[in-house]
Amino acid sequence: MAGVSYPYPYEAPVSQNLFDRASLVTPGGVNSPVRAFRAVGGTPRFMVSGTGPYLTDADGREYVDLVCSWGPMILGHSHPAVIEAVQAAVARGTSFGTPGEGEVALAEEIVARIAPVEQVRLVSSGTEATMSAIRLARGFTGRAKIVKFAGCYHGHVDALLAAAGSGLATFALPDTPGVTGAQAADTIVLPYNDLEAVRAAFAAHPGEIACVITEAAPGNMGVVTPGEGFNQGLADLCRANGALYVSDEVMTGFRTSRAGWFGVDGVAPDLMTFGKVMGGGFPAAAFGGRADVMGHLAPVGPVYQAGTLSGNPIATAAGLAQLRLLDNAAYAKVDAVSAEIQGLVTDALRKEGVAHRLQTASNMFSVFFTEDEVRNYDDAKKQESFRFTGFFHSMLAQGVYLPPSSFESWFVSTAHDERAIERIAAALPAAARAAAEATPEATA
Ligand code: PLP
Repeated sequence: MAGVSYPYPYEAPVSQNLFDRASLVTPGGVNSPVRAFRAVGGTPRFMVSGTGPYLTDADGREYVDLVCSWGPMILGHSHPAVIEAVQAAVARGTSFGTPGEGEVALAEEIVARIAPVEQVRLVSSGTEATMSAIRLARGFTGRAKIVKFAGCYHGHVDALLAAAGSGLATFALPDTPGVTGAQAADTIVLPYNDLEAVRAAFAAHPGEIACVITEAAPGNMGVVTPGEGFNQGLADLCRANGALYVSDEVMTGFRTSRAGWFGVDGVAPDLMTFGKVMGGGFPAAAFGGRADVMGHLAPVGPVYQAGTLSGNPIATAAGLAQLRLLDNAAYAKVDAVSAEIQGLVTDALRKEGVAHRLQTASNMFSVFFTEDEVRNYDDAKKQESFRFTGFFHSMLAQGVYLPPSSFESWFVSTAHDERAIERIAAALPAAARAAAEATPEATA
């Protein structure tokens, strides 16, 4: 970090100590790969608390948080209404293994917001949601094959890890050992934003494709907006070929609008998956859609799916409290915050002459270090990721916490106030300079 003075010394001794301990007992010292700083180098910061738009690490340093727990914390950290709902729920007990009113209320809220969702089943993670949706699509259609898009991440479901984004993009892993040929054999991976490829796949496999699963607006190869008519084209092709259109809204759901990306493009899927925002920072996720399809699930139908902690009372209380605060005004605020930060980032990079492209899906956005439009995973991989390394570390040293990879969306919240935005604005010039001065060799 030569030549620039930062408020923080770069070393983070307490985080380093925790990371050393963690690395002895946990692979790579983290419980989810994207939390490690493998793509950017350095010591992951161990966070001890979060309030509004800020996180505080174990060394006592405060950061403006532009990760928001990878999406869920759309009201900021420790929102009083969410904390109050959680405390009230905890006081009543933590898990009953029976149905409870909180589950009903959360399901009603989801169904009320998203017209194509007639029925919904609660699970505990986005991975479980997509895994279950795929099983249901296969059970409903009696077909084996599924179509997914390169660069779209749907959780670490075996059949969906082929050419996935997120951590697999960050670490440049083409696929993962441990997924057998049989588990991946029925997955057809196609380039994103390429309807012709989808049409050709249906033609090549008549009567064999159970569903097409897509991120409603991808955020896991960085943010890539679906091209005009792409999602509608998918829905039409699925319908014409007797397959289900599965829209993964784990990231976009209840974030990109009241009704997620469906609220933006209005394309009605047969099945949808949700997570992140709907759990209010707790492990709650869901899949839902057409009642006739959902009716194939146990106990009414033959497709088995279950979960000891599904619909957990604390998670549902947190999710419901968060969703109830997410009215149109809240989304307007998140959109405005996002637009302001986007403008600041672009200005700073432009001033330093850094080739970049800022792509958005409503209030989700990411910065690609390339001038060219990014329409798919191959385009995303062409960016000069080495520039992100210097940019990221400069922001970190100045108290701004970005996703530690250039293949991830940035997330903001209603809590990002003027003070937080001023800190980002103050940090950006030096970070943009670091990006301008970066060389591939320095990060190799
Ligand atoms: N689907 C999408 C679009 C996601 O972004 C993610 C996680 O980032 C998942 C599914 C998996 O969710 P989880 O990490 O809760 O298993």
